[in-house]
Amino acid sequence: MCERCKESFDWHRQRRNFLKAAGSAAALGIVGCGPLSGTAYADALTRGQRDKMSPAEIIAVMKRGNERFRRGVRKNRNYLNEQKASASGQYPAAVLLSCIDSRAPAEVIMDLGIGDIFNCRVAGNVANQDVLGSMEFACKLAGAKVVLVMGHTVCGAIKGAIDNAELGNLTGLLDKIKPAVQATSHSGERSSKNYSFVDAVARTNVLLTMDNIRKNSSVLAELESKGTIKIAGAMYNLQTAAMDFLS
Ligand SMILES: [Zn+2]
Repeated sequence: MCERCKESFDWHRQRRNFLKAAGSAAALGIVGCGPLSGTAYADALTRGQRDKMSPAEIIAVMKRGNERFRRGVRKNRNYLNEQKASASGQYPAAVLLSCIDSRAPAEVIMDLGIGDIFNCRVAGNVANQDVLGSMEFACKLAGAKVVLVMGHTVCGAIKGAIDNAELGNLTGLLDKIKPAVQATSHSGERSSKNYSFVDAVARTNVLLTMDNIRKNSSVLAELESKGTIKIAGAMYNLQTAAMDFLS
């Protein structure tokens, strides 16, 4: 198998597996390593590829993407082709809620492309009604199967909540994180200077945000209870580049 195919995106492996299952030799030829392989792979996630995957399989794809990122073997993707292929329709597999931190761009650290995920970003990855509405659109109307709340280490918003920082509209945002500060038990110094405590609060904040999503969105809670979607959490480590999936 050529290097290009080895590093081919997981969505397309999923498609190949589906085609194998369908027993179509002609179809298998489409996705082989021949001279046509450069143009054979789809350039954006299709509805068929997305719909064939379970929530667990989608999370597994994200985990493998992060492993590629950490190994420095990211897919050599063509963003312009992805843009063109997705221009007339989008079929993202997941909706993320992640922090605005410039060092934690979800698509990059999980080796994803244009059209693969919806991404809500707000400092401290807290959910409000607008975020919940976005997630409901993503899952109920657009067919995404995973809601992933992603926190990260050494988060400035978490530090601000610990320090009771006050600044304009930021004060109200940090208030949404403070329940996580209070709910975090820690044997060390409860200070923003103690990164162990900061990261523990960030982890609690992810778990509480997942609970809030279930509690405040009957639409998403119902989809999860039916097994249509999975609400999951993860912590991204800025030092190691590893994503730790919490559930
Ligand atoms: Zn942050």
